[in-house]
Parts: sequence; C-alpha cells; structure tokens
Amino acid sequence: MAVREQDTGGWPAATDGGRVLLSPPDIGPLEESYLLNALRSGWVAPVGPDLDAFEREVAARVGREHAVALASGTAGLHLALVALGTLPGDVVVVPTLTFVATANAAVYAGAEPVFVDCTPETGNLDPDLLDRTLDELRRAGRRVAAVLPVDMFGSCADYARILPLCAAAGVPVVEDAAEALGAVRNGRAAGSFGRAAVLSFNGNKIITTSGGGMLVSDDADLVARCRYLATQARQPVVHYEHTDTGYNYRLSNLLAALGRAQLRRLDGMLARRRAHRERYAKLFAATPGVRLLADHDSGANCWLTSIVVDPEHAGWRAADLARHLAVRNIETRPVWKPMHLQPVFSGAHAVLSGAAERLFADGLTLPSGSGMTEHQADRVAAAIADFLDRR
Ligand SMILES: *Cc1c(COP(=O)(O)O)cnc(C)c1O
Repeated sequence: MAVREQDTGGWPAATDGGRVLLSPPDIGPLEESYLLNALRSGWVAPVGPDLDAFEREVAARVGREHAVALASGTAGLHLALVALGTLPGDVVVVPTLTFVATANAAVYAGAEPVFVDCTPETGNLDPDLLDRTLDELRRAGRRVAAVLPVDMFGSCADYARILPLCAAAGVPVVEDAAEALGAVRNGRAAGSFGRAAVLSFNGNKIITTSGGGMLVSDDADLVARCRYLATQARQPVVHYEHTDTGYNYRLSNLLAALGRAQLRRLDGMLARRRAHRERYAKLFAATPGVRLLADHDSGANCWLTSIVVDPEHAGWRAADLARHLAVRNIETRPVWKPMHLQPVFSGAHAVLSGAAERLFADGLTLPSGSGMTEHQADRVAAAIADFLDRR
C-alpha cells in the first residue's frame, strides 16, 4: 500500500458527535499497511518478527540495551517489582499524583505503597520529600523494594536529584515513563532513567498499540527474567514445566506491528502536541493567575497540556472553564486525583505538602491529541477565547 505522507495519521478518531477528545488514538494508512503486512505474513501471535523489531526500535529510541514488549504498562510495572525481588511487607514509594496503575503495581507485588507529594511547578515527585520519606522508612526499619517516579504528563521527573538519593539509600528506581515516550531531560531520553523503565502504548498515550507496554533496561538479566515471567514462567522444555508463578503479559506480534508504524510517526506526533501546547501558552499568556503545568520544560513530550488556575488571581476556577468547554462538546479533565485521596488507598501512609491536592483542585487538562485537526484546534481556541472575554 502506498503511503504518501508518513507523518500524518489521516483518519478521524472515533468520536461521538464531533466531540473534541483529550488524547484519542492517531491512526492512519501507515498503521493499516503495517498491520495488514503482519496479518498476511502469518505472524499473528504470540511472537514474531514485528515484536522483536518493535522491542529493538523502542530500546534504541530511548537509549536502552534491552526491552520486552508487554500487554500493558501496568504489567511492566508489576513485573519490574517482582523481578527486583519485592516481597510482601516491603514498601514501594509512589508519587501521590499519578494514575492508579503505578500504585496498583505495588499492591499486586504484595507491597505497601507509600505516597509522596509533588513539586507544585511540575507535578513530579518532590525530591526533598522523597529524601525525608526514605529516611523515615529506614528509621522505622522498613525495607523499600523500589521507588517509582512518574514522568508526569510527559515531563521527566528530577532524576539528577532522585537517582543519587535512591542510590544512597540502596533502593532501585523504576521509572514510570508511561506518559513520556519522546521526552528528554538533561540530554537523556525518558525511559533511560533508573534500573528499568516502563512505557505504555494504551489508546490515549503518545503512541498506541491499542493496548500495550514495554519494559526497558540495560540489565540483560532483569529483562530476561521479566520476559520469562511474562510468558507464564515456562521452563525451556516441551512438557510445560514451571518452577515459578508467571503471568500472561506478552504483547502480540500484530499489535507490535501497529506500534512500529506509530513509532515511525513519533516525531511528527510530538511536534503536533508541542504546537498545541504553544497555542495554549499564547492563549493564556495575558491571563492573570493562569500558568501551564511544567512550564519551561522544553524537553517535555507535551503528552497532555494542563493549565493551573489560581482562583484568587484569575477570578474564576478551573471547573468554570471545564463547564464552558463541556457544553461546547470539548473534553477536559482535572489532573490525576491524588492516590492518598482515593477510597481504595484510604489509610495508606502519605508524606504530603498539599501540592498534589492543590493541583487536583486547580488543574485542568486540555485537548492535546496529535490527531486533533486544525479545525478542532481552532474550535477549542475560540471557545477558550470566548470564555476569557466574558470574564
Ligand atoms: C497509562 C499509565 C500507566 C499504565 O499503562 P497501561 O498501559 O494503561 O497499563 C501507568 N502509569 C502512568 C503514569 C500512566 O499514565
């Protein structure tokens, strides 16, 4: 199939009635051709050449030596904790401002998640609070199996501070880079920090395999262990021999083919997300009390652009703009509801400054998808301008 323009998706996202969505899949003829080729090659599942190639290509892109493609990012976080030897009763340190998957991985591994607050500017793990938390846990005699910093909305956490702190405490770091493919910080790619990193290819992420993830690391043994655990811990004999409890966590060859097409378009998709962010920055530049979350992070992949509204200075709340856009068929969302406020984690230990709760109250995430058309972006901009004019 001839594909003229490699950099465009081209097909509209599935939407209900012209609704502008936050971050829908961005799919087009290149994906179709890769998927069809994989299907016609007979390599449908479980493994195959596209799976091997996808692992190599993603590892190369993020500067890691080894990778294992998985059914989800959540599976990757869980496997990383298991492979690092997490035991029941251990602690896993998790930012309170994240998607629930980060915390769930700790629970799946039998560990207790301990939540740490974020820096207000970025929403990323606060290194000072992390330092304090590790110190407290050490004094309490708790074993910390891992720290899972999250690259919030595609802006890398402060690894220049986090990695030495964790090294001094003897605690491995697993980078939750689920949102961050394509981001860089201090010349290093998201996915290259810590003992291992985990990427997500869920439908709303920067690239998608419709559902999928990958664990990347320079540690060949760790990745081999994860690959083994992800395939039901099968011993290399024909009669299905098992000495460990494994999981069914691999990505299929078909979905890897979809991922390879997406990866070829990654730079173009990043450029479009960045353009959305720049447009929002201009729209709100003259509005008092409004800033962009993780402003000035030129290395962010701009997965989602969020504004933070100080109601005292702005004279309105993030929720007011959300309502204005909702009736105009434009999707927005608050930033993540912090884990320590989630009923499922009530009673969990949390080390807090109030920053995550303020971002939850005052943040608003705006449509940021790489497949958003010019017309849709204009509609969003006009609706926001209309809202600001009325204030
Ligand atoms: C999406 C996401 C995950 C989970 O990835 P899945 O592929 O959906 O399982 C984990 N952590 C964060 C921060 C995410 O945004």
